[in-house]
Amino acid sequence: MDQSADRIEAVLKEERVFYPSEDFKRSALLAKPEEYQALYEESLRDPEGFWGRFAGEFHWFEPWKKVLEWNVPYAKWFVGGKTNLTYNALDRHLASRRNKAAIVFEGEPGDSRVLTYHDLHREVSKFANVLKGLGVNKGDRVTIYLPMIPEAAIAMLACARIGAIHSVVFGGFSASALAERINDAQSAVLVTADGGWRRGSVVPLKANADEALASTESVRHVVVVRRVGQEVPMLPGRDHWYHELMASASDRCEAEPLDSEHPLFILYTSGSTGKPKGVMHTTAGYMAYVALTARYVFDLKETDTYFCTADVGWVTGHSYVVYGLLLNGATTLMYEGAPNWPDEGRIWNIIDKYGVSILYTAPTAIRAFMKWGEQWPLKYRLSSLRLLGSVGEPINPEAWLWYYHVIGKGRCPIVDTWWQTETGGIMITTLPGVHPMKPGHAGKPFFGVEPDIVDTSGKTITGADEGGHLIIKRPWPSMLRTVWGDPERYERQYWSQYPGNYFTGDGARRDSDGYYLIMGRVDDVLNVSGHRLGTMEVESALVSHPAVAEAAVVGRPDPIKGEGIVAFVTLKAGYTPSDALSAELKAHVVKAIGAIARPDEIRFTEAMPKTRSGKIMRRLLRQIAAGESEIKGDTSTLEDRSVVERLKAAQ
Ligand code: ATP
Ligand code: MG
Repeated sequence: MDQSADRIEAVLKEERVFYPSEDFKRSALLAKPEEYQALYEESLRDPEGFWGRFAGEFHWFEPWKKVLEWNVPYAKWFVGGKTNLTYNALDRHLASRRNKAAIVFEGEPGDSRVLTYHDLHREVSKFANVLKGLGVNKGDRVTIYLPMIPEAAIAMLACARIGAIHSVVFGGFSASALAERINDAQSAVLVTADGGWRRGSVVPLKANADEALASTESVRHVVVVRRVGQEVPMLPGRDHWYHELMASASDRCEAEPLDSEHPLFILYTSGSTGKPKGVMHTTAGYMAYVALTARYVFDLKETDTYFCTADVGWVTGHSYVVYGLLLNGATTLMYEGAPNWPDEGRIWNIIDKYGVSILYTAPTAIRAFMKWGEQWPLKYRLSSLRLLGSVGEPINPEAWLWYYHVIGKGRCPIVDTWWQTETGGIMITTLPGVHPMKPGHAGKPFFGVEPDIVDTSGKTITGADEGGHLIIKRPWPSMLRTVWGDPERYERQYWSQYPGNYFTGDGARRDSDGYYLIMGRVDDVLNVSGHRLGTMEVESALVSHPAVAEAAVVGRPDPIKGEGIVAFVTLKAGYTPSDALSAELKAHVVKAIGAIARPDEIRFTEAMPKTRSGKIMRRLLRQIAAGESEIKGDTSTLEDRSVVERLKAAQ
């Protein structure tokens, strides 16, 4: 194997392969590898024909003149066309799906609401009129700071209907993070709520909003949804109750014909690797790409009830709670609260209650479910499930197997979907009826996506299972168009390393079947005695030990080896830290993947520092492992500051 400094070594061997069942394949939208292959090849050979044919399904107020205009690194899709995403997600379905559930909502206290396509169309039209009444014009920004309630989707869609640009801020963010995002976008209106439910208590959204507004100047109006029924101060002239404005709003609001490249939303990345980037997406390309990926990756059928546990504050919530599902006329379930409230069976209870057929969640959640124990899901039937998905981080093979057996009962294919806020939609995954699954491997590129693995000079790494940098070699419809207000950062961050190619920031390898395995962030690669190792594989080896719930490895400067490996480990219930266990875990890694990956130190911890979207922030662990007294870098998206303090104190 080439050991040049550019490459990342493959150490984890995963030979298990799982096949979609005949039963699943029989009814799958795509079930033959040749079909995938033919469509994939067409999408690269003739992208304009491929995307043009598919986009032709949508309603266009004016047809596009050209499918793609590519002036590196600026792409325009469906140039000259005029459309409206909500026309295609709502109006278009009224003839055939008027009374079908669009959104099924479960509140944390157990309240439930169903909005049909007719209902949702009416509510969105009304709120679009409300926004107009508050003086919101095409191109104005609207910040949405709400719990996971239907009004979050209604507000997003109402913006899209009139061409306002939404910026959704996760309801778990603090006042200062909200203020920063309002200021960055210069929003004219803020939509929030009196509060939201989380583990039985109220998240004081309006109070946070008031605090944020004290350090912002752009917001003229605040719309407040009554969710928890708590008294909140209302500033006359600025603050308005949602239900009062809606009571007098007309339910007729025609969808505004918008240019294909009209901005749809701004959304900030998770902040795992640094300061969050304000990613901007536009209308038509995003619409086409999220609709097609939702349909084929989730094998959407008219009768499915689809449940994605992501919050609308993340891109997964944008593309695969709201837009991709509604564009396909599907039924999407929104859950407001915590997965362990009132107990650890809540998600499984929701699945049985509504007959959920597709579940899409994150490795961080799956590892938490494993930690809580399989007695929780075993209390439920889960017999309605037919497909499972994972997103957000590499899924350790052990977690994959647990998800497959305990939740899917060996019956449901798993799609491990790799993508980013910047990519807008799913880029690498298996298609559930087509491809065999290999735990830990995301799989194959989706239609129109041309990934490659390169060394730092940009040369393709051809060897099977040799790791390098993951790039995308051509534009795709839902790619970000810029970093809001900072085109220079857009060019530098994504297009400067490999000119003409999009740099993902992730390390990956490709096997002889063309399956991609994401090895972790390029910034987090370990360099031990000249061996460059991705974090995912060493962590997966640790997680395959029965005592380990979650692991994060980082490099620490070492005078002899360059870097030594420090492994932060959380244990499953029933296990306690000890020197013996530490020695056992080191030996376990050596046995699983070899002596080069032997951790120098195991640090047991109760919790990992994570972003608000649930991703491990290894850059903070790296500083802690190096014994740095002050943590540097952006920590604005850190979920729980006390975790870092406790880890530092435990040095
Ligand atoms: P920031 O860009 O601010 O550092 P972030 O990269 O965590 O934050 P997101 O856009 O939410 O922000 O996450 C995208 C990243 O998540 C990908 O680059 C990848 O590292 C990781 N990821 C997402 N899905 C998968 C997956 N299925 N397998 C492996 N990694 C994944
Ligand atoms: Mg990123």
